[in-house]
Amino acid sequence: MIIRDRYAPSPTGLQHIGGIRTALFNYLFARSADNGKFLLRLEDTDRTRSEDCYVQNLYDTFSWLGIKWDEGPDCGGAFAPYIQSERSSLYKKFAQELLDKGHAYRCFCTTQRIEEVRLQREASHSSESGYDRFCRNIDSNEAVKKAEAGEPYTVRLKIPLGESTVFHDHLLGDIEWKNDDVNPDPVLLKSDGFPTYHLANVVDDHLMEITHVLRAQEWLASTPLHVIMYRAFGWTPPQFCHLPMVMGQDGKKLSKRHGATSIDEFRKQGYLPEALINYVALLGASYEEGKDIYTLEELAQRFTLEKLNKAPAVFDYKKLEWYNGQYIRMKSDEELASLCLPYAIEARLFSNKGDNPSQQQKEIFISAMPLVKERLVFLNEVPEKIAYLFKEPEIPEAEEFIPKKCDLAKTIELLQIGKEIARNLAQASDDEKAESFIKAEAEKREVKLGDLMMPLRVAITGSRVSPPLFGSLRLLGAERSIERIEKALKKLQI
Ligand code: GLU
Repeated sequence: MIIRDRYAPSPTGLQHIGGIRTALFNYLFARSADNGKFLLRLEDTDRTRSEDCYVQNLYDTFSWLGIKWDEGPDCGGAFAPYIQSERSSLYKKFAQELLDKGHAYRCFCTTQRIEEVRLQREASHSSESGYDRFCRNIDSNEAVKKAEAGEPYTVRLKIPLGESTVFHDHLLGDIEWKNDDVNPDPVLLKSDGFPTYHLANVVDDHLMEITHVLRAQEWLASTPLHVIMYRAFGWTPPQFCHLPMVMGQDGKKLSKRHGATSIDEFRKQGYLPEALINYVALLGASYEEGKDIYTLEELAQRFTLEKLNKAPAVFDYKKLEWYNGQYIRMKSDEELASLCLPYAIEARLFSNKGDNPSQQQKEIFISAMPLVKERLVFLNEVPEKIAYLFKEPEIPEAEEFIPKKCDLAKTIELLQIGKEIARNLAQASDDEKAESFIKAEAEKREVKLGDLMMPLRVAITGSRVSPPLFGSLRLLGAERSIERIEKALKKLQI
């Protein structure tokens, strides 16, 4: 069998972790098979909530992630169009087919009547919910007449009562659902002629020859209904695999309360797509013991439905941060600099107007990458960490300069030594040379290395916690470094 699967989002919100995980699993499953095909289909049947900006967000997200579909609204395919609002006439035809076969019926209930039923049930504390099947038994000839006379109607599925629907889920096994407990006769075609999700989804999965439906577990309750429809049409249903939920650390469904969930937010924060993909691919799936880092290709080679876990997946922001750090460290200085550049421009690192860097600034920026790379978690941390290389840092208060067990007089003395050795340090060809030089100086002058470095660091970078000192001195150069030390000394000597 040639696998064909799909990601079928409704463009009613931003792409989030749950969505991209569904897409990624479908992508990997199709890629894991010979000639498998992964489709994108836009399920924009909810006309009031679907918006173009969300479609754009979908395209932007996946192009950033580097996940491509084989067929879809933007690249076409043999089953086009892949946008449900462009397929309306098709659904009408299939709704008619179900009417003709007696598996669906016209419902003339007004929204007002449906609301009244709901209120009555509420008042009498009834356990019943959903449609009360009021129009189910209207004689079909009479219904046709009413429709022809212009009375508005919806088309509802006639759920066969008193039976059960059984289907198999790859992860959850055989599932049996009493039809009486299935959503009572859901609407398939709305009165404006637009389909609901259920009709459009089933018709399209069939017409697009989808073999496997991998989707979030929240859709499980719709599946019996879909299976009833496949049978009513006389079609073979695809194979189902409902993916485990994604939870926060507190066991509740992952949501904004836990932190960022939209991919846009992760992107702005300075996550790398590789880190997100790698982490999300492991959310609810286990690959190899002891291996954490996988490229998209490696994931595709290893993916099977058997590797999916039944238990809900817990989203661990710390682990995702760890992945981000790992992927940051795999970048060359040039790559990392170009990834961080937009954040630096936005933070107005190179000028107060937010200009692009000059050639010289660009060179310093690239050379500063080794100073921050080792400890970096997010790309957007970079501008703040290295701002002192581009702008004069504010000189901190005297206490900041004073090493433990020292006083101000001693600190001034230490910084004076710092000034004397700064040129040599700035001109040392590498860290090792600078280190052995400063060590020898500390010994000669009978001061502790740590004590000598602390005030020097604060004078050069404006902070006790900073990227490595020797590299900073080298990048600033002897003149600028000495100037900063002099300014600091002046402040300490007041
Ligand atoms: N349009 C549904 C969604 O927004 C698709 C569910 C499915 O995959 O069948 O997730």
